[in-house]
Amino acid sequence: MAKNDLSNGSLKSYADLLQSKQISSVELTQEFLARIHRYNPSINAFIALDEAKTLAQAKAADVRIASGKAAPLTGIPIAQKDIFCAKGWPTTCGSKMLANFVAPYDAHVISQFDAAGAVNLGKTNMDEFAMGSSNETSYFGGVKNPWSFDRVPGGSSGGSAAAVAARLCAAATGTDTGGSIRQPASLCGFTGLKPTYGVVSRFGMIAFASSLDQAGPMAKSAEDCALMMNVMAGFDERDSTSLDRAKEDYCRDLNKPLAGLKIGLPKEFFAEGLSADVGKVIGNSIAEYKKLGAEIIDISLPNTGLSIPVYYVLAPAEASSNLSRYDGVRYGHRADSYTDLMDMYCKSRAQGFGAEVKRRILIGTYVLSAGYYDAYYLKAQQIRRLIAQDFVEAFKQCDVIMGPAAPSTAFKAGEKVDDPVAMYLQDIYTISTNLAGLPGMSVPAGFANSNDGKALPVGLQIIGNYFDEARMLNVAHQYQQVTDWHNQAPSLPEGNA
Ligand code: GLN
Repeated sequence: MAKNDLSNGSLKSYADLLQSKQISSVELTQEFLARIHRYNPSINAFIALDEAKTLAQAKAADVRIASGKAAPLTGIPIAQKDIFCAKGWPTTCGSKMLANFVAPYDAHVISQFDAAGAVNLGKTNMDEFAMGSSNETSYFGGVKNPWSFDRVPGGSSGGSAAAVAARLCAAATGTDTGGSIRQPASLCGFTGLKPTYGVVSRFGMIAFASSLDQAGPMAKSAEDCALMMNVMAGFDERDSTSLDRAKEDYCRDLNKPLAGLKIGLPKEFFAEGLSADVGKVIGNSIAEYKKLGAEIIDISLPNTGLSIPVYYVLAPAEASSNLSRYDGVRYGHRADSYTDLMDMYCKSRAQGFGAEVKRRILIGTYVLSAGYYDAYYLKAQQIRRLIAQDFVEAFKQCDVIMGPAAPSTAFKAGEKVDDPVAMYLQDIYTISTNLAGLPGMSVPAGFANSNDGKALPVGLQIIGNYFDEARMLNVAHQYQQVTDWHNQAPSLPEGNA
């Protein structure tokens, strides 16, 4: 890779440049900081930068590299979704509630990147408390889709998504409760992976819906995601749902041939609601897999249609409980004036939370209340089990499942803000994997033309069985050896020169 094309490199190419001393981590970091200064004022992907801290980490990485103790990501600048507590960094979760919160400790994910010698480039914008599919619920404003500034980047990890797509970072982290890594990966044209539930520790990751939340990598390619997973995954006793499994090398299967791979195509993922253009791109990518020797099998996930209603009972229920801690006392926004304790709670929460978060707290409190618990919460839990069972049956017939990651390409900012149900449908193909705890990824698969003639990215979703991330990364990597979609970057308007 030429030095003048630095921002479009793979993680491996950065590691090679760093370890052969062709470039220092400080230089690489400054390159990305310069791009952030140039483009972030219009894109709004980053909401916290601290150059002194970032460059200090880069300097430390250079010392480590010089001493011959570099790990694969040492010296590489990574953007962190603002849902992860990072010591000494503002950690807002996109909310006014936490606008002044500076984390006193590191999330497990952050300390893993620190231990690997990676450089924290800054904190990225997101939907408030990760509730949204367009980044428009952020207290810090929307994020532009780098492919078309009048469109949303998807959400909730919209800042990380735009940062990866616009090449403002080498790679980024995200979290996915119902689709928040995969849907933005689809809308912004990069590779994102939501691991099996329990593979990445949730310690220090601000909780939305704890039984669904999972952190994962957002990067240009499957190989980059594999390298990120090697850092992010692993047992952590501070998260009671973290799984105590042997450490894996997620790169180990990247180069396996795909001949004989069985790909299941669920008919429910290609039914009404899928934009025809997106369907065409997905069809082309499936044809590519056939050429690679895969066998296509028609399958059914009969309860897919229930995943959104089930999710919008369970996720708000868990959120209403998780968000009860924001009372204006221990931390978080506190109203200036109030008459008594109850008034302080009410005003602090009324002022600190935005409309979507309030809607979820109201729904969650309702479905958990005496008299409604059995009818809503319990029923939803039962259907969640059926949805998981659909996948158990499907994986008896195939190795991976494929389909679209999102039903459409990036939509216009403002288009769905007044219609929460239309917004919720963005996750129709992703939510069931969260409910089942399965891993899923989105891989750039081509472009579809919007009605005003813009070419917008489309993501192919790959769903794997439990703990099958290495195989999914292999399946994605082989596709990326014969296609070039993942290397395509948007041409950005000039920005601050
Ligand atoms: N869009 C979904 C929601 O609003 C999923 C968000 C997420 O995965 N964090 O809840």
